Amino acid sequence: MNSQYIYVLYFLAHNEDFDIQCTRETTVDVTSGLDFPCKPPQETQLNIADISKMPSRQSVLKLNATISSLNKPSTMMTIRDTESEVKSCRIGDQTGMIQLSLWDNQIDMVKIGTTYEFTNLSTRTFSGKTYLTTTRNTKITQQNTAVLLPTTSDTEDVDTQTNTITQTIEGSTISMKKLCPKCHSTQLDFNTKLNFHRCTTCKILRKQESYISKCNGTLIFKLEENELSLTIANSVLTRFIRKQNTQFLDAQDIEEFLLTCGPVTVTYTDENHVIEINKSINTIEVTSTHDIDDELCTVTDLVSFSQTSESKVPGDKRNSFPTQHIEVEPKQTKTPKDH
Ligand SMILES: [Zn+2]
Repeated sequence: MNSQYIYVLYFLAHNEDFDIQCTRETTVDVTSGLDFPCKPPQETQLNIADISKMPSRQSVLKLNATISSLNKPSTMMTIRDTESEVKSCRIGDQTGMIQLSLWDNQIDMVKIGTTYEFTNLSTRTFSGKTYLTTTRNTKITQQNTAVLLPTTSDTEDVDTQTNTITQTIEGSTISMKKLCPKCHSTQLDFNTKLNFHRCTTCKILRKQESYISKCNGTLIFKLEENELSLTIANSVLTRFIRKQNTQFLDAQDIEEFLLTCGPVTVTYTDENHVIEINKSINTIEVTSTHDIDDELCTVTDLVSFSQTSESKVPGDKRNSFPTQHIEVEPKQTKTPKDH
């Protein structure tokens, strides 16, 4: 190679990538017939009955399955200094059902009753039972052809008991963590006011917005005698704040929004984990907006009327005429609604 540059090539082996650095002395030649060990691809697609008999840490390259339950709350786990959210769901095909652990942004990618193709899953065993987990290389793709669930009832598939309240949030503590998009390590000294940030682990400088935000915390609601404290996981909170057309720079931003966004409807488990949170549609608010619209219409109508009739109105009365009617008209339109 004549080039002055140093090329960094990325290689992939056994699902782990590593770098090989080529220097000025390195030569690169085209070769053929290279013999290297490789695992033959799984020719037949595995079904859940097959997977249930597999030992731990086996990879499942491809699986088509339907989500049968998704109601379990997610939990936070710290793996290699990085806090991750994990949620287990149950998936099935006609041969059986199995538990699948979804991690972080994968949690929001599935809906109950929908069929997906999962790639690069891995098996784990716990007290003699095999279950599946997604990996960093897992892709989840929705399928048009539905995979039917087994007809026999699944005894483990019991939905979690849930409660619902509609109320304004009394207090909250939210923490926001920033993660490197490449090495996924948590950034301890992340300043949201700066444009750039250098990853403390892989040392790459990136734009502030390239970092992944993870936020979770507690929501406090006032009950008659005491307070109800609910934990909210990243996936649930992120889903909620994404619906608002606001940019949240830090945890305090989110906390302030939660306290001022009005009544919310919250579904939570008996263990006080939030499963779903939505802004509640306030009927009083809708009516009042309607009234304002009516008033605005009346004002505009009156103004246009006063303008067109200007020539007919004598000069001394012109100034007092519109204001008098604007004050009176809205009250008249409101009166029938009050009764
Ligand atoms: Zn990094």
